[in-house]
Amino acid sequence: MANYQKIKGTQDFFGTEILKLRYIEKVASNIANNFGFNEIKTPIFENTEVFVRLGDESDIVTKEMYTFLDKGNRSITLRPEGTAAVVRSYLENKLYANNLPLTKLYYFGPMFRYERPQAGRYREFHQFGVEVFGKSTALLDCDVIISAYQILKKLKIDNFVLKINSIGDYESRKLYSDTLQSYFKEHLNDLCDDCKRRIEKNPLRILDCKVDNNNPILLNAPKIHDFLNQSSKQYFQEVLSILNQFNIPYEVDEKLVRGLDYYTDTVFEFIINSQDDLNGIAICGGGKYAELVKSFNGMDIPGIGYAMGVERLIAIMDIQNKWDGLINNDLDVLIISLDYESKLKALEIAHLLRDHNFKTEIDYENITMKQQFKLADKLNPKFIMIIGEEERQNGVVSIKDSRTKTQESVANRDIITYLKGKLI
Ligand code: AMP
Repeated sequence: MANYQKIKGTQDFFGTEILKLRYIEKVASNIANNFGFNEIKTPIFENTEVFVRLGDESDIVTKEMYTFLDKGNRSITLRPEGTAAVVRSYLENKLYANNLPLTKLYYFGPMFRYERPQAGRYREFHQFGVEVFGKSTALLDCDVIISAYQILKKLKIDNFVLKINSIGDYESRKLYSDTLQSYFKEHLNDLCDDCKRRIEKNPLRILDCKVDNNNPILLNAPKIHDFLNQSSKQYFQEVLSILNQFNIPYEVDEKLVRGLDYYTDTVFEFIINSQDDLNGIAICGGGKYAELVKSFNGMDIPGIGYAMGVERLIAIMDIQNKWDGLINNDLDVLIISLDYESKLKALEIAHLLRDHNFKTEIDYENITMKQQFKLADKLNPKFIMIIGEEERQNGVVSIKDSRTKTQESVANRDIITYLKGKLI
């Protein structure tokens, strides 16, 4: 039997839900734009190599990608994250040749991961993200983090905390990774199956194992901060000191290593920290990646970025009751008309109103006046305009204000001025 249901872990967006999605896109894009980011839209599918680079042992790459052969036998992957695709586009379009010190980009769009669907975890979800290429400075790291902070503030989200860590530059990270590897090998039998697999290629990831994060073997593992070299230490201290200066609250979390392999130095996440079901949910994650561009074509260009989970932001704003007055797509005017001539007039006036940005609906059928008023009850327009034979002959319409329940006769040529005056 045909299956006409949506795929597990996907969602239809309509009604108020699509308005919420658009609202978050608008707020985030506006702030990113003010921070000097320009929008980029990359394809939803890419050659698989874009996402899989040598030695990448992240969960996303090893088990969560939607990868398939197309009809030309090419391996194609639905993008599981934005960064690798943006790097591909940055290099392919030689955006580095713009002679600017930085290339600052933001994106908004769907991502696809074969994860177990549960609350806040989908197989298709939306991310808003930013990426900056060109320089590596603590000041830049902080400004990027602050842009995310400001988006969350603008959305009026409560009870979130910025968790931050340094996983060191390549050299520090390598030394730490080798030490962790030896340590975990000594405790192999106390690790979950996933972590046993991670030992060889990405021992750092064992630290944020989701299966058993109270495991004493993990808690007592060597700490990254003892392995940071002098320059990594200084870099991290500078990041923290700038955040202090700008009163951005944070917690240093030594267990934070992030799921993707390409990060260096600064990594961060914004987490909900509350007494309810939302506690611990990650709404944004990112970090600096000195080695990612290099892994594509060898160019030594550092980058930094983050991605926010839009569905999670929506869920949090739902639970924290933040939508009042923010999403409104009410009908401005419903035109009720009686005879066929009046309907033609209604259509003409509707076009005029729409040209002036009033959301306008008319009755296209020949339903009775009573039925049209019933329709008005359902559509709940701000104004009901009535056109009958008498109005037509006098070159006027009757306009009823749904809020005040008052009705006035308005000359055709004054309709727009009248409505604009009312809506102020
Ligand atoms: P990541 O690219 O894994 O760092 O994810 C960045 C953000 O995207 C996370 O903090 C989440 O808010 C969101 N996110 C990641 N995976 C999912 C998913 N499967 N469903 C919904 N949101 C997700």
